[in-house]
Amino acid sequence: MSSRREKQATKKIAQERIEILLTLADGIYSEDPELAQRYGDLARKIVMKARIRMPEKWRIRFCRKCKKFLYPGITTHVRIKSGVSSRVVYYCDICNVGKKSKQFSKSS
Ligand SMILES: [Zn+2]
Repeated sequence: MSSRREKQATKKIAQERIEILLTLADGIYSEDPELAQRYGDLARKIVMKARIRMPEKWRIRFCRKCKKFLYPGITTHVRIKSGVSSRVVYYCDICNVGKKSKQFSKSS
C-alpha cells in the first residue's frame, strides 16, 4: 500500500494545488466570484482529503462559519481596531459573522 514517502509526496502535491487554486481564485474573484468560490471549495476539499493544514495566509481568508472563500472589499470588510495591541477583524458579508484575526485564533 502507500508508503510513508508516498504520503508525504501526496501532501506536497496537495499543498501546491491549494496554492495554485487559491492564487487563481484570488485573481479572478472580482470578475467571477462564483468560480473563485468553487476554487475555494475545491481547495478546502483537498485540505481535508490530504489531511493537511490550510496555510495560515489562506486560512484567514475562509469564513469560519459558512466556510466561504472571502475576498477583502467584496465579501469581507476589514476593520482595524487600534488599542494597546491593534488587531484586524474580518467580517464575512455572506453570513455576517465577525472573524477575529489570527492573533486571537492561534490557540486553536
Ligand atoms: Zn461567513
